[in-house]
Amino acid sequence: MNRAQAERRARDLRDEIWRHRYLYYVLAEPEISDAEYDELEKQLAEIERDYPDLVTDDSPTQRVGHPVGGELPVVAHSEPMLSLDNAYDAKELNEWLARLKRVARLDEASPVCLLAEHKIDGVSVSVIYEQGRLARVVSRGDGRVGEEITATARTIRSLPLRLNQPLRHVEARGEVFFPKAAFEALNERRAAEGQSLFANPRNAAAGTLRLLDPRQVADRPLELHFWQAVSVDGSTPATHSAGLDALKSLGLLTNPHRAVFADIEPVVDYIETWRRRRNELPYEIDGVVLKLDDLELQRRVGATSKAPRWAVAYKFPAEQATSRLLRVVVQVGRTGVLTPVAELEPTRLAGTTVSRATLHNFEEIARKDIRIGDTVIVEKGGDVIPKVVGPIASRRPRGALAPSPPDLCPVCEEAVVKQEGEVAVRCINPSCAARLKESLRHFARRAAMDIEGLGPALIEQLIDHELVQDVADLYRLEAESVAALDRMGEKSADKLIRQLEASRHQPLHRVLFALGIRHVGDRAARVVAREFGTMPALLELVDEKDATERLAELPDIGPETASSLVGFLRSHAGRRLIDQLAECGLVMEEPRSETSQGPLAGKRVVITGTLEHYTRDEAKRLLEQAGARLAGSVSAKTDFLIAGEHPGSKLKRAEQLGVPVLGEADLDRLLSEGT
Ligand SMILES: [Zn+2]
Repeated sequence: MNRAQAERRARDLRDEIWRHRYLYYVLAEPEISDAEYDELEKQLAEIERDYPDLVTDDSPTQRVGHPVGGELPVVAHSEPMLSLDNAYDAKELNEWLARLKRVARLDEASPVCLLAEHKIDGVSVSVIYEQGRLARVVSRGDGRVGEEITATARTIRSLPLRLNQPLRHVEARGEVFFPKAAFEALNERRAAEGQSLFANPRNAAAGTLRLLDPRQVADRPLELHFWQAVSVDGSTPATHSAGLDALKSLGLLTNPHRAVFADIEPVVDYIETWRRRRNELPYEIDGVVLKLDDLELQRRVGATSKAPRWAVAYKFPAEQATSRLLRVVVQVGRTGVLTPVAELEPTRLAGTTVSRATLHNFEEIARKDIRIGDTVIVEKGGDVIPKVVGPIASRRPRGALAPSPPDLCPVCEEAVVKQEGEVAVRCINPSCAARLKESLRHFARRAAMDIEGLGPALIEQLIDHELVQDVADLYRLEAESVAALDRMGEKSADKLIRQLEASRHQPLHRVLFALGIRHVGDRAARVVAREFGTMPALLELVDEKDATERLAELPDIGPETASSLVGFLRSHAGRRLIDQLAECGLVMEEPRSETSQGPLAGKRVVITGTLEHYTRDEAKRLLEQAGARLAGSVSAKTDFLIAGEHPGSKLKRAEQLGVPVLGEADLDRLLSEGT
């Protein structure tokens, strides 16, 4: 085959392939077998391999492109993508319709046509074709601007890269979602790999579309149903349903169960039918969307700032069942949160057998007064895990006891904590087996101890072989036992040991961050480390009664962070781990950096009010560079206060304590001279 022949053949193959995809995905009327179709794609791929310059952007072989660098670009929508108002029963539905007719100045009895279709809970997207080619896919975002997700959306099998007609400009909107079977398979795969599970298909679709590398998306079979034609070559059809028909004839998939009704009764039937049959569908629906079909009427009734008046989402009631609560077990998540889980007598719910349901937390159990032995109502909403709604008090057996929250973690038996303002009870022991994998992963991170050789696969093996039971054990590893693990060998084992050796000298702030203490991020760790310099100095403070308050006075340290850090360093498990790390030779010191030199070395400075020439952050940074230590509040130890416009209570306090007060004009002089 010469080049000219190849070019012709490639063009014919592309046309053929796109036609068959349309027959298969959109019309559901395939003319050839899957094997015959695969053969066409194979032939095209071969030609494109021999003549790479013949590859076109809309070739069906070009669905999986290159990773997107950096962040997803943000794009404004041509017109806002509003959300929908909800209706929960027939009464609310009738009220919506009556309101519509009033706004449209229609007689109450005059009929209007309503388009009904399944409400799939997915991710709304706007799709734009230019000259018949797929140009851009943008997520709904906040309704005004969304993220451009073209690269991941191209992998959606039913979404054509070109339309059946080369129209100049087409904008359509629809819903991207995970079919049930694909969602379950995805979660099973993630469970097998030890990854966290998606709570529901919507989260899975949203998470997938935001991936930067389309290769990761290609094996997650997303689908897309279009529900609105915004513009088709500059014109809009007379009715909403005609717009959808136009999209369908262009090759875009619309919901196969959509229907138009001239009256409200058949609409109610439609809703009832699909409420009953929802479990038969290959995708999850949580209701039915109703729209005025007449676009002229749509324009007349318009929209509020939040939602169009011409559409409403009728939500199905959540599916419920009753069962008996046998016992409450406690699960420890990888972040240490303890979740009470109800073990139930098996019961049928939404097409599956349910024997476990979440109770969220112990406060909720107490609030709902749920007791062991109760007959409880179980509900399945959008999430995979059903939940306990509450007890049926009249069916309570005599003497039923409330489950009590555990004092100890069921996995490691260390005392658990409940932080102020939080309902969750947590295990904060970083060596807890439930948390260990996550603790090790965090410890090795580049911003933490920076141990490159300690990847997820190795961590898993170290735990499985019981070589490591806490992060301190890492420093007791021997090259020999590491080398004996799968896919390791002497070379990489030696390298890991060398990296661990080097990490012993990491500064205090990295150690503090690496311990994974809740709320203690990199910034907070730096502030604390700079203030105290060494671990023993920090522990000395922690033993003081007012340690939390004093930590909270440091810049960038909130009360939550202070209390979490103090709680950890006072806990048995926390203190023991620090001791062991010290025993293993970790230095845990903050090197005296350039901040201890400079014209303001060691001076304690507080800023208040608004500065004219610097933002607060700039002033802080400049002062720190000059060696000053910034504090959040004025005390007797403060060397001076810098007061800008509108100073607060800090000025008063400085005056009371006799702390020198300087104006912004003094700042430049200070920064250069230090006096
Ligand atoms: Zn634990």
